[in-house]
Amino acid sequence: MKKFFLPLFLMMGASLFAQFLEGKKDLIMAVASVDYENCLLYNQKECNQCKQYCAYDAVSYELQPGLRNPIPVFDKEKCVGCAACKIVCPENVIHINPYHLSS
Ligand code: SF4
Ligand code: SF4
Repeated sequence: MKKFFLPLFLMMGASLFAQFLEGKKDLIMAVASVDYENCLLYNQKECNQCKQYCAYDAVSYELQPGLRNPIPVFDKEKCVGCAACKIVCPENVIHINPYHLSS
């Protein structure tokens, strides 16, 4: 009897774990924002780190009125607060805001 149930339990466990991993993708912990004053792009220098390392396609570079360079804009709908952009930002100007404080 045990021989019959063990594979069944293992399969159920694997299925639950797969569902947990799938759901984890939707877990939003925080949202990124940027202190533009010291951002390299904002200051008309080259940088593409935050966009390049965002696995969620949440960063775009957009031209704003009155500026000569595009600046990084963080999409709150796509950002999950993983902080990859913060880690790679050479000027350390990206902040990760807990979701309940930034919404
Ligand atoms: S915190 Fe993560 S998901 Fe949000 S913009 Fe930065 S790299 Fe992308
Ligand atoms: S990585 Fe930092 S300095 Fe570079 S564009 Fe993004 S916010 Fe600006």
